[in-house]
Amino acid sequence: MLYHKTMTETVLAAVRTGAGTTELREYPTPEVPADGALLRIEVAGICGTDVKMYAKPVIQGPVIMGHENVGVIAMAGREFRERQGVAEGDRVFVEHYVPCHRCEWCHLGQYRHCEWTDWRTNPDARRYGYTSAENPFHLWGGFASHLYLPWNAVLHKVPDGVSAELAGIVTPMSNGIEWALIDARVGYDSTVLIQGPGQQGLAQTVACKQAGASLIIVTGTTKDAARLELAKALGADHVVDVAADDPLTRVTDVTGGKGVDVVLDCTAGAGTAPVLLGIDALKRREGTLVIQGELAAFPDFPVKKVTEKAITIKSARGHSFRACELALAQLASGRFPLERLTTHTFGLSYVDRAIKTVGGSGDEGAIHVSVLP
Ligand SMILES: [Zn+2]
Ligand SMILES: [Zn+2]
Repeated sequence: MLYHKTMTETVLAAVRTGAGTTELREYPTPEVPADGALLRIEVAGICGTDVKMYAKPVIQGPVIMGHENVGVIAMAGREFRERQGVAEGDRVFVEHYVPCHRCEWCHLGQYRHCEWTDWRTNPDARRYGYTSAENPFHLWGGFASHLYLPWNAVLHKVPDGVSAELAGIVTPMSNGIEWALIDARVGYDSTVLIQGPGQQGLAQTVACKQAGASLIIVTGTTKDAARLELAKALGADHVVDVAADDPLTRVTDVTGGKGVDVVLDCTAGAGTAPVLLGIDALKRREGTLVIQGELAAFPDFPVKKVTEKAITIKSARGHSFRACELALAQLASGRFPLERLTTHTFGLSYVDRAIKTVGGSGDEGAIHVSVLP
C-alpha cells in the first residue's frame, strides 16, 4: 500500500478551458475502485491533431488534452490488476481508445473503430485527451500528473530498457507500422514515396526500412532541412525538397520511369497537391495510396486516372493493438536512432507553448514534442 500513502490529496492538470486557452487546475485525487487504477504520467506526446483540437475544440467545457500517454501504475484496484495482468510500479503505454469490449470491432481487437469511444458517434464517449474533465474521475488526459484508468483501458507493458521518453513515440511509430505495413502492405523490395518528414513521415520511414523496402523517397519543404537529414539517418534513400526540386521528376528518375508501389501522405492537411502527386507518382498498375486529412471537398479529383492505374486508396485511421506491440518491440531493438525524433520536452506549466511548438508557432525545430508532467 506504499503508493496509497505517497499519493497527495490533489492532482495537478493542465486543462483546456476554451479555444487556445490552458489553465493549471487541481482535482481531488480520485477514489480508485476495485476495477480501476491511477497512472502517474511520465510522458504525454503531442501530435498534429492536438494542434487542431486546441485551436478548434470539438468537445466543449474543460478538457485535459494528451492522448499519447506513458506512465507508471501508481495505484490499482484488485480486479484491475487481475484483469489487466499488471502491478503497481509497472510502466505502460496507454492507448487513447477506451473501448466498450461489447461491439463487433472490440471483439475483433480493432478498438479504434469502436463507436462507444468516438465522440462522433457517442456524445458521452471516453477517449483520452478528448473527454470532458467534468466526467467522473476527471483525469481523462495526459497533460496532468495522473490519469484515471477504468477496467477497459487498453495497456501495453513497456519493455525493460525502453525509457519513458523513448516510449513516448510509440504512437507515431505504431501509426507508421499500421499504415505502411498493415494498410499498404509495404514489404521486401517495395518502393515507397513518403510525403512529409514530420514525426509521422519519419516513423513510416523506419517501418518501411525495417520491412525491407528497397527504395524510400521522403519529401519535405525547405524549412524541413533538418528533418530530411534525419529521414536519411533513419533509412531514406532519397530526400526531395519540393520547393527546390520537382518531386514527380525525381520519383520518375530514381525509379527508371516506373513509379513507386506505395505512397504515404503524411503532410496532414497540405491540400490536394500531395494526393495529386501521389496519384502521379504511383506505378502504372495496382499501386496503393494512403491518405489522411481534413479536405471536405476535392474539386476535379482525377477518378479516371485512379481507375486507369488501378490504384487502391486507403485511409490512415489510427493503430491496432498489434501495431503498438510491434512499435514497442522496434523501440526496444535500438536498431534505429529513434530517440532523435524527440526534439522538445515541456513541463506541465508550458502545455500551451508545447502545442504551439508542434503547430510551428512556438519553439523552432520541432519533430516530436512531449509534455513531462
Ligand atoms: Zn495523436
Ligand atoms: Zn466497442
